[in-house]
Amino acid sequence: DGLVVAVDGPSGSGKSSVSRAVARALGLAYLDTGAMYRAATLWCVRQGVALDDAPAVTAAVRALPLEQGLDPEAPTVLLDGDDVTAAIRTTEVSAAVSAVATNLDARAALGDRQRAVIAAERTGGWSGGRGVVAEGRDITTAIAPDAPVRVLLTASEGARLRRRSLEVHGTADAAAVAATHDQVVRRDAQDSTVVEFRTAADGVVTVDSSDLSFEETVDALLAVVRA
Ligand code: C5P
Repeated sequence: DGLVVAVDGPSGSGKSSVSRAVARALGLAYLDTGAMYRAATLWCVRQGVALDDAPAVTAAVRALPLEQGLDPEAPTVLLDGDDVTAAIRTTEVSAAVSAVATNLDARAALGDRQRAVIAAERTGGWSGGRGVVAEGRDITTAIAPDAPVRVLLTASEGARLRRRSLEVHGTADAAAVAATHDQVVRRDAQDSTVVEFRTAADGVVTVDSSDLSFEETVDALLAVVRA
């Protein structure tokens, strides 16, 4: 049976890039569940579904025409055949994604897809049964609570804001960090009303990346996998 590495964490903890690097290092598939929430949000926008109409959002998400690449070298996202890998990263989508993330029926629909991907990678799928690194907000708790490796990747708010600011604005000067603060802190506050991702559940190993470089963080996760 293939390995399942479950990684949760707040915005800016580095969980996406770190999880991807861990998947690459171990030859595992990479499942970015945040990309699913982002794609679902973009799909609602493109279909003209009002994001405050919860039943309509649920219906759209249940029928989501999503094809998600699991190769950590190229985690492409197709929506109805259209490559939206870049389009799901816009600030417009980031600002709207909580409408899907706080909709419990939509979460259940996306959660079913995530469990199906994880189950497939344990025995076959893209990884040929080697397994998967699955990353998100609730993977260690709701989606894969039985994963043999479960990690909560955290970082101080200052570190998270600096990283996100560099990513989005290309700089971590005071103005950019302030702009990032609004976005990141608001999104995490909204998300935490439905998913607890700030404290580790029982049996989940916490890795704090505040004072670690990217490479050191990847090594810390690999050490947890090998422990
Ligand atoms: O990780 P990323 O920033 O791409 O995730 C985007 C959003 O998707 C999060 O802010 C959160 O609202 C939602 N999300 C979630 N549960 C997951 C993954 C992402 O609610 N497992």
